[in-house]
Order: sequence, then structure tokens, then C-alpha cells
Amino acid sequence: MLRITRAKSAGFCFGVRRAVHTALETCRTTPKPVYMLGDIVHNERVVAQLREAGIRVVENLDEVDDGVLLIRAHGAEPATYEEAKRRGLQIVDATCPLVKEIHERARELHFAGYPLLVIGDHGHDEVKGIAAQVPDAIVVSTPEEVRSLGRKFRRIGVVAQSTQDVDNVRAIISELIPICIEIRFVNTICYPTAKHQMEIRAMPLENDVMIVVGSFTSANTKRMTQISRGLNPRTYQVTGADDLSADWFSGVNTVGIHAGASTPDNVVEEVIARIRQLAGTPVEIA
Ligand code: SF4
Repeated sequence: MLRITRAKSAGFCFGVRRAVHTALETCRTTPKPVYMLGDIVHNERVVAQLREAGIRVVENLDEVDDGVLLIRAHGAEPATYEEAKRRGLQIVDATCPLVKEIHERARELHFAGYPLLVIGDHGHDEVKGIAAQVPDAIVVSTPEEVRSLGRKFRRIGVVAQSTQDVDNVRAIISELIPICIEIRFVNTICYPTAKHQMEIRAMPLENDVMIVVGSFTSANTKRMTQISRGLNPRTYQVTGADDLSADWFSGVNTVGIHAGASTPDNVVEEVIARIRQLAGTPVEIA
């Protein structure tokens, strides 16, 4: 008997599910062209589905002078909204409410007199959107970057990108302690991410094999694979059912399935169905 356990938080987080739904509804209900700045999530299947629905992905607004601009779940910089308005575009804002909350916290810290430090991946759209809420925000992605700032702060306000790894945030705060008199940290790792991280740290220890489902272009999925592999070397990342190999399951009693926040539910279901076929033994789904 093979027992397959699917993580409760596997797949789309509610912010991405909401943004994809908004995008499809917008295409269905408006006769105007609908544009997005970059892909909605780092998943090839979802991107293809939205393209089929009529969404046009552009690199910048120079290419657009009429229609609807859909703001993705990650949010955008205030300058993007201003430019869209200047060009007469209708804005449909699918920014995740939890990202909007980070924007608010960032502004609150700024107005309370705390220089803002954002813990996040350089160049990521969510991080750019958060940092642009206030003047002169500092972005750091690693503890080493804090050391290389080479300066001290009387006070500092800290927020994190919603999908940051809790261990990285902890390590960065520890680096800040010797160089700041006062640190005001708002934990803005969102609760779907926190749940994801809890499950990806527990399941590899409870299962013989771990399968992480998601695109290799998704930073979130790659990070999950790394964490899982560190705890259980028999961890495999797959983009879909076709990547699975029968050898991975021979002599195995338990398999854990997790998926990146940009992986659609149907891909996870297909992976589970294929493992059932490959197992060659009765399967129980937990
Ligand atoms: S990861 Fe969290 S903040 Fe980001 S879109 Fe999903 S729910 Fe919203």
C-alpha cells in the first residue's frame, strides 16, 4: 500500500487564484484589449490559458495606448498607475489584498519616521511595488547584504516580501540588531506562505519521497524544492505528470505532494493520478 499525502496548502494561494479569476472575467466581459505587464504567475500552463483568453502581455506601457491594464497579484509601483491613467487606460486592479496591506505598513513606518528596509528579492515586481511606496527604501535579500551596507541606523522599519523564507528574515533581523538602536519589524510574510513553509518543513520528514510540483521558472517552487531536499534527499521537482519516473516509487510506502503557489490545482491532480498508475500497488490518498 502506498500512502500519498497532499499538502493542504499545495497550489494556488488565494491571491493568485483571485487574480487569475479577475483576468479571465475581465477578458470575458470587456470588448477592449486587456494588457498585463509581465506574466500573471510563473507557470507556463496558466500563462497559456490567459493568452488563449485574450490577455496580451507587454514589457512596458509604451506599447499600449488603449484598453484595460490588469495589475497582477504582486501589485505595481505607483508610477505604473500614474502612467496608465496618463495614457487613458482603464485599470483593473488584481493586487492581492495582503500585498496592499504591506504597502500600507510600509507607508505607516515611513510616516512614523522609520527609514524603510524591505526584505525581498531584488528586481521582483512585488518588492519594487513595496519599495516604491516611500522615498529611499532599502532592499536587502540576504544577511550579507546587510553587512555590506556598511552603516548604522538610529531607527529602522522593516517589512518583508509576502513570500520570503522565515529563516532568511530571521537571519537578516539578527544582522540588523548590532547596527540599529531601534528596529520596528512588521511580519508581512502572508499566512498562505507561512502555511506553505510549515508544511514543506514537516512533510519531507514524514514521507519516504517528496514531489514538489511547479515550474522551474518559479522562485517560490525552487525554494520549496531546496528546503525539502535539505530534509529529504529523495525530493523531486516536476512541472507535471509527464516528468514523473516509476523508479522514484519502487519500494516506497509514503509520498508527500506539495506544489508552488503558482501551480494550478489540475496539474497537482494529474500528478497524483499518474503516481497511482506508476505505483503498481494499492494507493491511499491522505
Ligand atoms: S503569496 Fe500571499 S501575498 Fe502573494 S498573492 Fe499569494 S496570498 Fe497574496
